[in-house]
Amino acid sequence: MKKIQMQTPLVEMDGDEMTRILWKMIKDELLVPYIDLNTEYYDLGLEYRNETDDQVTIDAAEATKKYGVAVKCATITPNKARMSEYNLKKMYKSPNGTIRAILDGTVFRAPIVVKGIEPCVKNWKKPITLARHAYGDVYKNSEMYIDKPGDAMLVFKGEDGEERCELIQHFDGPGVLQGVHNLDDSIVSFARCCFNYALDTKQDLWFGSKDTISKTYDGRFKEIFNQIYENEFKDKFEAAGLTYFYSLIDDIVARVMKAEGGFIWACKNYDGDVMSDMVSSAFGSLAMMTSVLVSPHGYYEYEAAHGTVQRHYYRHLEGGETSTNSVATIFAWTGALRKRGELDENKELAEFADKLEKATLSTIESGKMTKDLALITSLKDVTVLNSKDFILAIKENLDKMM
Ligand code: NAP
Ligand code: MG
Repeated sequence: MKKIQMQTPLVEMDGDEMTRILWKMIKDELLVPYIDLNTEYYDLGLEYRNETDDQVTIDAAEATKKYGVAVKCATITPNKARMSEYNLKKMYKSPNGTIRAILDGTVFRAPIVVKGIEPCVKNWKKPITLARHAYGDVYKNSEMYIDKPGDAMLVFKGEDGEERCELIQHFDGPGVLQGVHNLDDSIVSFARCCFNYALDTKQDLWFGSKDTISKTYDGRFKEIFNQIYENEFKDKFEAAGLTYFYSLIDDIVARVMKAEGGFIWACKNYDGDVMSDMVSSAFGSLAMMTSVLVSPHGYYEYEAAHGTVQRHYYRHLEGGETSTNSVATIFAWTGALRKRGELDENKELAEFADKLEKATLSTIESGKMTKDLALITSLKDVTVLNSKDFILAIKENLDKMM
């Protein structure tokens, strides 16, 4: 069989611990035998990040701007324990944070739906994709504890000398105070990312905020989404038969629970933080969740939503057997390869991505799965496989399809 060719390199960001082990297995068994894999490789493993003073993370993000599509393995975000474990020069920032700051984007998370792993919400038949705004609000707040009576004021000092002042609250006794902000620029690019992603994946877009209470702040989000929709996307949505739907966040939550899925739910930063954990655990498992960063300039970075599965890695290092789920990491690769295929009009590559996903899902549906899924599946006849054998079982299915 002739291997599939790739015109443009994919930016490949390797990572840490158990997911680094899976990364190599996936490449060796599921990709390299079928594709003349053309990647520009960046080692985001913590050791090399430390060696390069984290320059490699910046280089990888810049390469993503150059080529447009990247695939990323899970990486360690260093904390105190990692400082001594890896003998680090300093406590580097989260690679995802660094990359996001350079690409400026919105993170979309979607569950991988498979027969046998049923969502707790029984009417959810199709995936719900959550789009989380990743700038501002309480994540960039300033706070105060107030310990005596007095007036709390909201003050803005214009560079032109204009000063605006509003009473927040007169305190008779102790209490708390918080200031938050957001920026039109950031909301605009969030909105564009959401509309583009909806068109790209042919799904409706829902957005909810609390503009009845927060008339100016959340009202601005609603207004910007409406303007961008009317001015830039309405025609495209209508042509594609898609809907943009705005409502109060409470109403959206109620509708989400009763819906059958198959849409994108755009959330403000805090709502997205909380709701993505609800949606992902209701769909079954973090190991069955994909994540893609979409920048307003049209760059895409695909990854798994879970971390480096440290506990499994230590077992692996001690020579013990692991049963780590590689599905989300496989889907990061297929997402990136499909997008690369679409951009390069490389049909064979995009079709390969489809086949690899089908082979993965049919492996699980035939009862062969890793331990995390075996614990929650409704299938009766289940074989629990180790990390490597699960990938080999997928390969067997894939070979039948090729
Ligand atoms: P984690 O790697 O997501 O794992 C937490 C637990 O979830 C695991 O111990 C395992 O449970 C289960 N799990 C997660 N993924 C699994 C998979 N693919 N297959 C089977 N089970 C899976 O989170 P963590 O242990 O809190 O974090 C480890 C490291 O990952 C940290 O250094 C953190 O900085 C990093 N991290 C990176 C990213 C990223 O790069 N996107 C995201 C989150 C965390 P059992 O042990 O019970 O089997
Ligand atoms: Mg959270």
